[in-house]
Amino acid sequence: MALREIRKAGDPVLNKVCKPVKEITPRIKELIDDMFDTMYEGMGVGLAAPQVGILKRIVVMDVDDGNQYVMINPEIIETRGSQTGDEGCLSVPGYSGTVTRPAYVKVRAYDEDMELYEIEAEDLLARCIMHECDHLDGHLYTEKVEGELTRAEND
Ligand code: ZN
Repeated sequence: MALREIRKAGDPVLNKVCKPVKEITPRIKELIDDMFDTMYEGMGVGLAAPQVGILKRIVVMDVDDGNQYVMINPEIIETRGSQTGDEGCLSVPGYSGTVTRPAYVKVRAYDEDMELYEIEAEDLLARCIMHECDHLDGHLYTEKVEGELTRAEND
């Protein structure tokens, strides 16, 4: 198990557009493993590579639906409806905020073996996909918060 340092809001690496992954190398596999470890350690449900300082289009997610997802070079191909709810981010520790996201998302991505696949998601997974894909383009959820950021109570 290897933990990586989570970059915090204000770090310029979080505002950069990430580059597509061309091939899976042992280094990328190791990065993906470390991203899962780092996400679980932080009690997060998703983590994007720029959050550990790597400007590549890689996301890991586990929203407790029994599945671990790795999205490489993800592309949102369809969204429908809207949902409004609370969101947080490991790069903005101790805060949450209300964000409106699509209720349904279809995304196409490569997995850790560079096989193309699709996810159709609703609820928390849809929210997580949109949040993490934003990271790959240098955006944080705080840009989209309706009203004020709220300080998390037990933090
Ligand atoms: Zn985030």
